[in-house]
Amino acid sequence: MDMRKRFKKVLVANRGEIAIRIFRACSELGIRTVAVYSNEDKNSLFRVKADESYLIGRNKGPIEAYLSIDEIIELALKKGVDAIHPGYGFLSENPEFAKKCQEVGIEFIGPTYEMMVSLGDKIKSKKLAHSLGVPIVPGIERAISSVEEIMEFANSYGYPIMLKASAGGGGRGMRVVRSEDDLKRQFQSAKEEAKKAFGIDDIFVEKYLEKPKHIEVQILGDKYGNIVHLYERDCSIQRRHQKIIEFTPAFSISEELRQKICDDALKIGKAINYRGAGTVEFLLDRYGNHYFIEVNPRIQVEHTVTEMTTGIDIVQAQILIAEGYSLDSKEIGIKGQGDIQPRGYAIQCRVTTEDPLKNFIPDTGIIDQYRTGSGFGIRLDGGNGFTGSIIGPYYDSLLVKVTAWSRTFEDASRKLVRALKEVKIRGVKTNIPFLINVLNHKEFLSGKCDTGFITYNPELFN
Ligand code: ADP
Repeated sequence: MDMRKRFKKVLVANRGEIAIRIFRACSELGIRTVAVYSNEDKNSLFRVKADESYLIGRNKGPIEAYLSIDEIIELALKKGVDAIHPGYGFLSENPEFAKKCQEVGIEFIGPTYEMMVSLGDKIKSKKLAHSLGVPIVPGIERAISSVEEIMEFANSYGYPIMLKASAGGGGRGMRVVRSEDDLKRQFQSAKEEAKKAFGIDDIFVEKYLEKPKHIEVQILGDKYGNIVHLYERDCSIQRRHQKIIEFTPAFSISEELRQKICDDALKIGKAINYRGAGTVEFLLDRYGNHYFIEVNPRIQVEHTVTEMTTGIDIVQAQILIAEGYSLDSKEIGIKGQGDIQPRGYAIQCRVTTEDPLKNFIPDTGIIDQYRTGSGFGIRLDGGNGFTGSIIGPYYDSLLVKVTAWSRTFEDASRKLVRALKEVKIRGVKTNIPFLINVLNHKEFLSGKCDTGFITYNPELFN
């Protein structure tokens, strides 16, 4: 039986740049697009980039609007939507949402409910990795109820340790603890914070690695058990555990280690017959050991760099997979792992409306001039940047992602700096001067930066 079906209409349960990114993929596949928007996003650009758009969460707050599962599904049914793409953040890692879509016959563009349950929670996914022989950061892989359990762990492994919310994400819900006193102080508040931010107060503990590298692997699986990886990304340039600049390939690590990490990522994907696009994340210590930390069962902000080097449109692949196409179909065109042949180097930076001189506090206001950089090898994935647009305080401050591709890493970096220098934005502050400082930095160009790079180089802020 041919399980393939073509979607006529796709709703994107998200906003900003990723909504626009998904609309573009849909349009290229001949699919009609539906946007949903909150009161606060009435005048946002993504809304008019869709063929149809509808207000949701009329009486709800700016974030809650995009979490209105029942309202979004009801709307989708009413408007004859075939599938929903959740983007990243918001409902993208919510298994209940995937399940409810499935129950009413709307395709959820992502993994199945069961896969999301086994991967979405950091404790569960670490257990799975461990059972497959994939190294994990030493820790206690269960929800911890008493501070004594953690003390015991710290006594054998030593401080520093990290407390993590099992349901955490986006760099939130993590705390570094450097002593027993510190632990006593932080334990209860970490639990309370987890409850408030993620609805569940499960926290676990692991060894805190000093200045690791963050390396992650993009995987892609279809509904028939075929799965490939699209190689790795280096996302070590972070501030407060949030990625700022990402690139591929991670050229500072040995070919052997790179292959081992990609193989381990695939092992995890294969074990659960992973479907759709996903990212398997690892930390690397300075001795060349790699440790699995989590799987993100969704599209990621930094997917662009992988698209640039592999030539594969990951968002289109997600949609085609949901439609029932196999990886080796003419439409997706990946006959096997050997077909993935990355070329050159790609670097993405996240231009935000944050003021680097004021500790990156998000700036708000009206953009009264907006001019971007362009040219050969430059790609822009924009959100709400245009002359006259209002940058409010309600959502994350990502304005536009600028990605450069070139034959060498240095060329790609120079190209990115050149494109950033062409940008002229007036009315709100941006982090562009800071990004340029990073891209020009010798250590950045060596590819060897670790997650401590920004903290240990205060001159980047000038
Ligand atoms: P999130 O789900 O919020 O993105 P991750 O588990 O992916 O969180 O971790 C984000 C970042 O936090 C990592 O890239 C790394 O910089 C830091 N981190 C996480 N776990 C550890 C650890 N055990 N030791 C040191 N740094 C860590």
